[in-house]
Amino acid sequence: MAKIQMRTPLVEMDGDEMTRIIWKMIKTNLLEPYIELKTEYYDLGLPRRDETDDRITVEAAEAVKKYGVGVKCATITPNQQRMSEYSLKRMYKSPNGTIRAILDGTVFRAPITLPCLKPAVRNWKKPITIARHAYGDIYKCSEFRVPGPGKAEILFRDEAGNELFHETVFDFKCPGVLMGMYNKDDSIESFARACFNYALSTKQDLWFSTKDTISKKYDHRFKDIFEEIYEKDYKAKFEKAGLEYFYTLIDDAVARVIRSDGGFIWACKNYDGDVMSDMVATAFGSLAMMTSVLVSPDGNFEFEAAHGTVTKHYYKHLEGETTSTNSMATLFAWTGAINKRGELDDIPELCAFAKTLETASLATIEAGYMTKDLAQLAELEHIEVLSTEGFILKVRETFDKMRKN
Ligand code: NAP
Ligand code: MG
Repeated sequence: MAKIQMRTPLVEMDGDEMTRIIWKMIKTNLLEPYIELKTEYYDLGLPRRDETDDRITVEAAEAVKKYGVGVKCATITPNQQRMSEYSLKRMYKSPNGTIRAILDGTVFRAPITLPCLKPAVRNWKKPITIARHAYGDIYKCSEFRVPGPGKAEILFRDEAGNELFHETVFDFKCPGVLMGMYNKDDSIESFARACFNYALSTKQDLWFSTKDTISKKYDHRFKDIFEEIYEKDYKAKFEKAGLEYFYTLIDDAVARVIRSDGGFIWACKNYDGDVMSDMVATAFGSLAMMTSVLVSPDGNFEFEAAHGTVTKHYYKHLEGETTSTNSMATLFAWTGAINKRGELDDIPELCAFAKTLETASLATIEAGYMTKDLAQLAELEHIEVLSTEGFILKVRETFDKMRKN
């Protein structure tokens, strides 16, 4: 069969460690044999970020803005230990943080679910998607270690130089810690719109929660903006689609989520979304089965796996041991991006390819072929644990059979 042709390139962001190895395996075995893959390649692996003083990350984000669709491999966020391991010039910021700050937008995380993988929460029947506001709050804060007694103040001066407010945050009598953080109405508005649009396009209810009872100005602003935009632009559309939007205090949302049967979108502020998505991923089975997509307000999409570079497996791989690392979330990042590219460029073959490849990978697992992490969770009679590459090759076998039929 002739290879599928692409029109516009995908922005391809390579990464680090075990996921970099998986990245190559997926391209070689599952994509390049079938698609004339057209990508604009950015190596976000740590060595290259160091060489370019992290300019490569900014360039990659700009490219996503230009082309509209990107796919990203997991990358190392350096810490002290990585500084010496890679002899880095500086402790670079999280690439995802940099990309999100440039693209703005909302991160939607949804688990890949399968009949043989039973969620830890028994009543969950459908996936729960977490929509995380990917801008501001503690991810863009200024924080300080307070050395000793003294007064911490917060001051806002408008453009004309008038002090609009000036308040004591705390009168320290001893050492401590201090933080200042912010968010912007326009970012919260685009967060709200992204959530309402995503709910309509995936036909799921939308829940939104913050701690507005405690944070009467900051969190309350989020609640008000969602409410205003919903009433003005989305209420009629939701009613027509038979969907529901509601706001509730985060404490109440947590309780409701656990009692629910799933199948909705839970919109969260930046930090809540970060933490809750790990909880939801684990309860659905494995972090290795969690997909993630960043949707920017001007309609750009960046797909990735929610997990990291799987360092422990990589070190084993370096010692020559056979690994059994799950490639599903990375594969779904690729299929998500290819499908979106197909939609935007009106190339139905690309969309069909992506969907069939997803179906083939799911069928492979349901047939009992999987990596070690899933073997511990799957409820099936016969299970064969495969290596990292073994699983990818098995998916290819299933995919080829499906294409013939
Ligand atoms: P991690 O890479 O997600 O791995 C944590 C553990 O989860 C692994 O040791 C493994 O458990 C399990 N796991 C995760 N993904 C798996 C997969 N695909 N297949 C099988 N098991 C999987 O998190 P981390 O070890 O905390 O972080 C490693 C590096 O990734 C760090 O340098 C961090 O900065 C980076 N990171 C990047 C991103 C991103 O780029 N989006 C996100 C998070 C972390 P077992 O060892 O028990 O098998
Ligand atoms: Mg997290």
